Order: sequence, then structure tokens, then C-alpha cells
Amino acid sequence: MSVNPRSPLLNSLGWVDYAFQPAGMPPPADAAYGHQRHSANVVLASQNFPPKRCESDGVIATDERPVAVYTADCLPVLIADAKQQNVAAVHAGLKGTLKGVLYRTVEKLCELGATPQSLYVAIGPAIAPCCYELGESMLAEIERTEGVPQHIKWHQSQPKNSHAQRKQANPQQNGIWFDLPELAKQMLIQAGIPDSQIENVNICTYCMAEAGSSYRYNTHFNSDYQSRFSWIRRK
Ligand SMILES: [Zn+2]
Repeated sequence: MSVNPRSPLLNSLGWVDYAFQPAGMPPPADAAYGHQRHSANVVLASQNFPPKRCESDGVIATDERPVAVYTADCLPVLIADAKQQNVAAVHAGLKGTLKGVLYRTVEKLCELGATPQSLYVAIGPAIAPCCYELGESMLAEIERTEGVPQHIKWHQSQPKNSHAQRKQANPQQNGIWFDLPELAKQMLIQAGIPDSQIENVNICTYCMAEAGSSYRYNTHFNSDYQSRFSWIRRK
């Protein structure tokens, strides 16, 4: 079963097209996207078309060109600015998020005329706390990182996902179950975006999305995986 969730929030804007495509499906032929490196580099679409011309984990379009990211557990974050009708696609894994890729994207959109209050955000399929175990030392490192909000969310014991389509990740390291989408959300709120303008589609790539969409699942079972492309563009 392929998973292609919609965001009622982005739908409500009326001027954007977007997709959180299933694993293995190619992006639109005219999409700009970077050579992703878990960095905080955010560039304009013109700098990454043809794709992967430079290293970037966030791409912003100021015209009708689609901007895309490819992910396999990391967060695909799509952002629309209602003021300038600019759009952004961000690859935000744990590393890039801690480096500030979301802050940098908001900052750059604001340099282009947005305000945090004019931004609408959809967080696509990504590994959820039901399947994302981290060691205690990693949690301590996250909590020490500059720019990380006070109220990050994690669970001492593995949360049960009643929507799971396959078995949730087995505990491997006696760790904690980290909520990466919530960390991203809290950072976006800290950047000034209203809570009501941030939506999470709530699909876990490990246990809910189509087979082959989770890097971590692949690591555990040596199965195959393919990137999921997510993209957004001004209509
Ligand atoms: Zn899961």
C-alpha cells in the first residue's frame, strides 16, 4: 500500500500544489533539490536546478518551480509563505534539525519578505516515537544543543502505535523513544510560527508508510529502501 497523505492546512491555502510521494516515485521533472548533507544550508531553487548542483538541505522557490527533498525517516517539511507566495522544502533529520536547518529556512523566508506569522508548515511522513529509539547519551546531547526548546518530547517506554501496518521497531539499546516531529514543531514555534499553522500528517515511515520507505527498518532487517520525495510549488 502506498502512502500519499494530504495536509488539510496546505490544502486550505488554495495556491500551492504539493505531495508527500510514496517511496520510489520520482520527483517532478522540473523540481529543484539539493545534494543533501544533514546541514543547515538553505538555497534558492535557481542554485539547485538541475538538481544536486550544490549541497543544501533546504530549497526555496520564489516562482512556480517545485522544490523537493528526499527522505527515508528524516522529516520532510514543506513551508508556504502566504505573504509572498514563496515555498520551501526542508530535509530535517535529527542532525540537520539540531544544526538549525529549520531556523535558517524561516530566517531566509523572512529575508524574502515573509513574517513567521505568514508561514504555514506541513511535516510529512517520518520516523515517529513509536519506532525511534535513541540512547540516553544522545538525548543528553540533544538537550545541551543551543537552540533546542525547553519542552522537547520523548517517552521512557515505547509508545504503542495503534495505526501500525507492520511491527514497530524492536528495542535495541535500552534507550528512550524520541519524538523528532515534535522537536521540529517546537523549534518552528520558537521561530515565531503559530502552533495552529503547523501540521503533522502523523505517518511513521517505519511502521505505517509503504514497505521500503524507512532507512532504519532497512538497517534492522537488511531489506531494501528507496527515498520518498516530497515537494511543493506555487500554483
Ligand atoms: Zn512507528
